[in-house]
Amino acid sequence: MKNTVLAALAAGFAALLPAAAHAEEHEEGAPKWSIAIHGGAGTLDPDRMTPQQRADYEAALQLALDAGAKVLAEGGTAMEAVQAAIIPMEDSPLFNAGRGAVFTWEGRNELDASIMDGRDRSAGSVTGVTTVRNPILLADRVRTDSPHVFLMGEGAEQFAAERGFEVTPPEYFATERRREALERLKAEALSALDVDHKFGTVGAVALDSQGNLAAGTSTGGMTGKRWGRIGDAPVIGAGTYADNRSCAVSATGWGEYFIRVGVAQEICTRLRYAVHVKALEAQLSVPWDENGPTYIVHASELAMGPEIFQEIADEVMAEVAELGGDGGVILVTPEGHALYSFNTTGMYRGRANSDGMNEVAIFGGEDGADSGNTPDH
Ligand code: ASP
Repeated sequence: MKNTVLAALAAGFAALLPAAAHAEEHEEGAPKWSIAIHGGAGTLDPDRMTPQQRADYEAALQLALDAGAKVLAEGGTAMEAVQAAIIPMEDSPLFNAGRGAVFTWEGRNELDASIMDGRDRSAGSVTGVTTVRNPILLADRVRTDSPHVFLMGEGAEQFAAERGFEVTPPEYFATERRREALERLKAEALSALDVDHKFGTVGAVALDSQGNLAAGTSTGGMTGKRWGRIGDAPVIGAGTYADNRSCAVSATGWGEYFIRVGVAQEICTRLRYAVHVKALEAQLSVPWDENGPTYIVHASELAMGPEIFQEIADEVMAEVAELGGDGGVILVTPEGHALYSFNTTGMYRGRANSDGMNEVAIFGGEDGADSGNTPDH
């Protein structure tokens, strides 16, 4: 009897729970809008950074965060906010995206970007682009103006030209610092991690005041990449994912591991089911008689605090660490929680919401965000 009732309950939970994880209805007291950004994670040590470098990074993060927050504060969409936040980071030489991207083995800057709308799970991605100033805009154009999700290299550039994107000379993306990193990697037979110490990919996730979620990520990949290597950033489900039913995620880190774990989608999926599990647990905790539960728990009675979302993000990042990978994620939930999880010593990051939160940080612990499951390096 109990099993039958449980099966019926489980099946009915999707209908029972709309308020807990869906757009349009904000929980009372929850922020109306929320945004988080990242500019890469890695072995970040305050002693290895001059005060000027630190100030430069903080200023660049603040600029990006404010650009995204302004869109949301003025009633713009999460999709617009994500792009508004990513563009200044693509334009800044400090990050490994757009200008300042790392070099491939052959000495080129090949750019990847992806974006996803949590409203309808429409998505666009590009990889191996060399002449588009803001790849995030091209990724969005793939989403809105092509029948496809993912375009590569020359084809992506042909699409860009046909859609009126200006051709940016490839030299625009090149910076001396990144060229030296490639030279050192080759001369000393180092890995990308040895020369870069950090991943500089940029990303943003947002919840707008209509209750819609969006995520976007942009990168140059990893120094010395070759054979047409593609990381997680442009792979929907690995580096980027957004679904109004669960969350929006953007990742940075050792792309191969993020692809293997399917990090962004894995977090969203676990989160979606956590709501159901929580409901089931609550229902099982009320007294039962021979007819089943004496009381039906309503979605609004389930407290879904930030802890559960943090736990899930940390669990997925722990899987990345177990396989040998490192990096971090940012996420925003339909309730407006803006969270981080990283297993490196730091992550360039920032978050803001309609309740007045506005902060940027670089090292672990600075803003209460810990490099939880940190491997030793
Ligand atoms: N995830 C990117 C890649 O593997 C690198 C990064 O995060 O900076 O291409």
